Amino acid sequence: MCGTDNRNGSGGANGVQAPHPKQTQPRANPYADMGNLISNVSRFKIIESTLREGEQFANAYFSREKKIEIAKALDSFGVEYIELTSPAASEASRQDCIDICNLGLKAKILTHVRCNMEDARMAVDTGVDGLDIVIGTSSFLREHSHGKDMAYITKSALEVIEFVKSKGLEVRFSSEDSFRSDLVDLLALYKAVDKAGVNRVGIADTVGCATPRQVYELVRTLRAVVSCDIETHFHNDTGCAIANAYCALEAGATHVDTSVLGIGERNGITIEDLVAEAVEVNTPFNNPITGFCAFTHKAGIHAKAILNNPSTYEIIDPADFGLTRYIHFASRLTGWNAIKSRVQQLGLNMSDEQIKTVTGKIKTLADVRPVAIDDADSIIRSFHLELNDQRDGSANAQPKEITKVNGVDLPETESGAQAVIV
Ligand SMILES: [Zn+2]
Repeated sequence: MCGTDNRNGSGGANGVQAPHPKQTQPRANPYADMGNLISNVSRFKIIESTLREGEQFANAYFSREKKIEIAKALDSFGVEYIELTSPAASEASRQDCIDICNLGLKAKILTHVRCNMEDARMAVDTGVDGLDIVIGTSSFLREHSHGKDMAYITKSALEVIEFVKSKGLEVRFSSEDSFRSDLVDLLALYKAVDKAGVNRVGIADTVGCATPRQVYELVRTLRAVVSCDIETHFHNDTGCAIANAYCALEAGATHVDTSVLGIGERNGITIEDLVAEAVEVNTPFNNPITGFCAFTHKAGIHAKAILNNPSTYEIIDPADFGLTRYIHFASRLTGWNAIKSRVQQLGLNMSDEQIKTVTGKIKTLADVRPVAIDDADSIIRSFHLELNDQRDGSANAQPKEITKVNGVDLPETESGAQAVIV
């Protein structure tokens, strides 16, 4: 998303300490323009998220080998941080974290986790250098995603931050959907976590609605409220991601999240297909609105909220363009709410407990290889069939183990696999 030029100000990719805005910078050339002392355009750090945000891209299935190859390439390029999918997403995601931590890369390894103790403990145990804690703060997400109020969010944030710090690790606290969150609530929360000693606070334009001017104003305001570093995360649904990142740095942000090719959850619009075909060009995969995955939702917590209310993660109604949204349900990032929706589409009847069990089976297979919709549907249908065979009057009867899908052996089921993230 963001360019990597202009980082030569303090020498070296890993040694740059983001300055406090109140410190004045010595000018090498006495005739040079005074510039803007708050701007970090010529000195910022990259938090490279291809292996986290990028894994939420509709087509992404990264094997362990491919993740390692990408991590090494990013490291040799000189990114300061590499962010990985939460180990709570699936057993393979957890093991991938451990293996990448053991590569001995120069870049610090981070993982992106929900704001709860269970996920934080699991992440700390993988050997990462830091945790990127995230929780939705907009009224949309508070109502339709996790259902928690600001008091609860603050309390759990402080608890998780204290725990991560006690382990000697870096900690970032980010709100999700920051630009649709109440400003007073947001600043109070950031002030509290700054006081608790976080290394960075993060603002995230999770739904891709922010404009450069809004970004500048929010970051500038935040710069005056917290003394820690400020990380920024922008989606490109309206084509503003790079402009927004640039404005954030001008306003004093210190860190920018990136992903190679800009891959990530959704992207940015349709009519174009007809003209593109006529002039013999392809519609770019990541086009706003017409790109093939503009309205595809993959991560578990996104899918859950979208099913409750599409405004949670969409700022444009696909129906306005004659398009339909797609909830991607056949991946290791899948949550049980997306599977529940699929079960209903298939006209099957299962209890929530049974849906959670079958979700675990789909995630387990998706840890081993890409899972096609047909594979996921077969797992659901076989599970339902066995359920019917054994139905003995108990609503929660669990069927015996399914060991094969479309003739392929299923790996051992890990219980407790959960849905994850932004
Ligand atoms: Zn994101």
